[in-house]
Amino acid sequence: MLPTSLFAVLFVLFGLVCAATDLYKALELSRGASEQDIRKAYKRLSRKYHPDKNKDPGAEEKFVEIAHAYEVLSDENKRRIYDQFGEDGLRAHEGGHQQYANPFDVFSSFFGGGFGGQQTRRGPNSIFEVEVSLADMYTGASLDFTIKKNVLCDYCRGSGAASDRDIHTCRACGGTGVKISKQQIFPGMFAQTQSTCNECGGRGTVIVKKCPHCSGQKVVEYTQPNTLDIQPGMPDGHEVVLEGEGDESPDWEAGDVILRVRSKQEQGGWRRKETSLYWRETIGVDEALLGFKLNLTHLDGHIVELHHKGVTQPGYVQVIEGEGMPVFGQSGHGNLYIEYNVVLPVDLGSDMRKKLGEAFYGSAYHGRDEL
Ligand SMILES: [Zn+2]
Ligand SMILES: [Zn+2]
Repeated sequence: MLPTSLFAVLFVLFGLVCAATDLYKALELSRGASEQDIRKAYKRLSRKYHPDKNKDPGAEEKFVEIAHAYEVLSDENKRRIYDQFGEDGLRAHEGGHQQYANPFDVFSSFFGGGFGGQQTRRGPNSIFEVEVSLADMYTGASLDFTIKKNVLCDYCRGSGAASDRDIHTCRACGGTGVKISKQQIFPGMFAQTQSTCNECGGRGTVIVKKCPHCSGQKVVEYTQPNTLDIQPGMPDGHEVVLEGEGDESPDWEAGDVILRVRSKQEQGGWRRKETSLYWRETIGVDEALLGFKLNLTHLDGHIVELHHKGVTQPGYVQVIEGEGMPVFGQSGHGNLYIEYNVVLPVDLGSDMRKKLGEAFYGSAYHGRDEL
């Protein structure tokens, strides 16, 4: 919050500067600037010159000036009056004494302060499912990728016209975007109906020569490089939001790109459920009967020693605490569950068969061997 005295100072300055400066120049724009250009310029400049941030001499005046320029140029009606008749026209429009909006209200309403007023449409969000290997989910990673999206054409800055001179006020509607037609409903009695101008689609302007770069489409396709930062243990379905990276258009403020992260299911390998990890280990009948010591290479390459004394039943699950997935945003790890699968040899040599027989049945085994 600003001290009241500063408010007072700003309002005094306000009256002085606004009369003097061209509103387009204040926003560093040309007369053909689109609605989107105006918003973008205000967004950039108002942040730059906000008195909370910028203590340079002159920044305050600039902030006030920018707010006033935005307030007028973002309002179709006021902009049209300003374009034709300048500040004097605006004053006349307001009934002699022009009502200036509080520059801080303009700022907070723009940045979501809930001032009401008209809200710019937001473009659609784009959602992408991204499959990430478990190893990357375990250690964390930076993954480079590209998204194809529409960006405003550089050449025409989203106007679709070859130059500012090629944007003409629509003759059919005189720039209002609406057509008023009179219909006779009774002899001598007329009704007025208002409809969107079909010549200009309600824009009030027509383009006589299309932009050669985008063929009048206003946007061009662009392949944008991006980086997705995977934090260790990122949960399945976690959404990484790239704000304002969606398709651009002069008709809206770009939406977000949402990357929904999923763990890749790798066949026969590691499986994950939340912070738990699962691994299926295959052991021989000898290991199952006599016990074993094995090395398991974990997702990041470190070795986990698996050992079991005595008999291991097929399907036995061993819990190894703290060797699961990292807990997202915290310290520590979940558990690792090892399920043992016992394989029997395909064939026993006669020597082995004899020895096993003796082991199981003692001397009584002799004779059965001939069967
Ligand atoms: Zn263009
Ligand atoms: Zn028109």
